[in-house]
Amino acid sequence: MGNEKPHPTPIGIFVCSRGQRREPCSVEGCGGRVVKLCDFPLVGRKSGQTCNRAMCASHAKRIGVTSDDSVDYCPVHAKMHADGIA
Ligand SMILES: [Zn+2]
Ligand SMILES: [Zn+2]
Repeated sequence: MGNEKPHPTPIGIFVCSRGQRREPCSVEGCGGRVVKLCDFPLVGRKSGQTCNRAMCASHAKRIGVTSDDSVDYCPVHAKMHADGIA
Protein backbone atom coordinates (compact mmCIF):
# COMPACT_ATOMS: atom_id res chain seq x y z
CA MET A 1 0.00 0.00 0.00
CA GLY A 2 1.18 3.46 -0.81
CA ASN A 3 3.91 2.08 -2.99
CA GLU A 4 2.50 2.55 -6.48
CA LYS A 5 4.60 1.40 -9.32
CA PRO A 6 4.76 3.80 -12.25
CA HIS A 7 3.15 2.45 -15.37
CA PRO A 8 5.75 1.18 -17.76
CA THR A 9 5.98 3.19 -20.92
CA PRO A 10 5.54 0.99 -23.97
CA ILE A 11 8.49 1.27 -26.25
CA GLY A 12 8.36 0.47 -29.93
CA ILE A 13 4.63 0.73 -30.21
CA PHE A 14 3.54 3.46 -32.54
CA VAL A 15 0.47 5.11 -31.14
CA CYS A 16 -1.34 7.41 -33.48
CA SER A 17 -2.97 10.37 -31.80
CA ARG A 18 -6.31 9.29 -33.21
CA GLY A 19 -5.75 5.63 -32.56
CA GLN A 20 -6.20 4.73 -36.21
CA ARG A 21 -3.85 3.87 -38.98
CA ARG A 22 -4.21 6.63 -41.48
CA GLU A 23 -2.61 5.82 -44.77
CA PRO A 24 -2.55 8.63 -47.32
CA CYS A 25 -3.68 8.27 -50.91
CA SER A 26 -1.01 6.48 -52.93
CA VAL A 27 -1.11 9.03 -55.72
CA GLU A 28 2.01 11.10 -55.50
CA GLY A 29 1.47 14.56 -54.10
CA CYS A 30 -2.11 13.89 -53.08
CA GLY A 31 -2.08 12.64 -49.50
CA GLY A 32 -5.88 12.50 -49.37
CA ARG A 33 -7.80 10.24 -47.06
CA VAL A 34 -8.02 6.69 -48.36
CA VAL A 35 -11.53 5.49 -49.05
CA LYS A 36 -10.93 2.82 -51.70
CA LEU A 37 -8.43 0.20 -52.76
CA CYS A 38 -7.83 -0.63 -56.40
CA ASP A 39 -9.77 -3.74 -57.41
CA PHE A 40 -7.80 -4.36 -60.54
CA PRO A 41 -7.16 -8.11 -60.86
CA LEU A 42 -3.50 -8.87 -61.26
CA VAL A 43 -2.31 -11.47 -63.70
CA GLY A 44 0.70 -13.71 -63.99
CA ARG A 45 2.56 -14.53 -60.81
CA LYS A 46 0.24 -12.35 -58.76
CA SER A 47 -2.87 -13.84 -60.29
CA GLY A 48 -5.75 -13.96 -57.85
CA GLN A 49 -4.66 -10.79 -56.08
CA THR A 50 -5.73 -7.26 -56.72
CA CYS A 51 -3.67 -4.12 -57.13
CA ASN A 52 -4.89 -2.84 -53.74
CA ARG A 53 -3.48 0.59 -54.31
CA ALA A 54 -4.86 3.02 -51.75
CA MET A 55 -6.88 5.87 -53.19
CA CYS A 56 -8.79 8.87 -51.94
CA ALA A 57 -12.29 9.59 -53.20
CA SER A 58 -11.10 11.81 -56.04
CA HIS A 59 -8.54 9.31 -57.37
CA ALA A 60 -10.67 6.17 -57.19
CA LYS A 61 -12.14 5.59 -60.62
CA ARG A 62 -15.37 3.68 -60.60
CA ILE A 63 -15.68 1.10 -63.33
CA GLY A 64 -19.03 -0.48 -64.04
CA VAL A 65 -22.60 0.68 -64.04
CA THR A 66 -24.48 -1.01 -61.25
CA SER A 67 -23.31 -0.88 -57.68
CA ASP A 68 -23.35 -4.67 -57.64
CA ASP A 69 -20.66 -5.24 -60.21
CA SER A 70 -18.80 -1.98 -60.03
CA VAL A 71 -15.18 -1.90 -59.02
CA ASP A 72 -12.77 0.88 -58.22
CA TYR A 73 -9.51 1.25 -60.09
CA CYS A 74 -6.49 3.39 -59.40
CA PRO A 75 -5.75 6.07 -62.06
CA VAL A 76 -3.19 3.85 -63.81
CA HIS A 77 -5.49 0.88 -64.10
CA ALA A 78 -8.51 3.01 -64.91
CA LYS A 79 -6.57 4.40 -67.85
CA MET A 80 -5.53 0.93 -68.97
CA HIS A 81 -9.14 -0.13 -68.78
CA ALA A 82 -10.30 2.92 -70.74
CA ASP A 83 -7.64 2.31 -73.38
CA GLY A 84 -8.80 -1.26 -73.77
CA ILE A 85 -5.54 -2.76 -72.56
CA ALA A 86 -7.19 -4.38 -69.58
ZN1 LIG B 1 -5.72 11.07 -54.08
ZN1 LIG C 1 -4.44 -0.40 -59.59
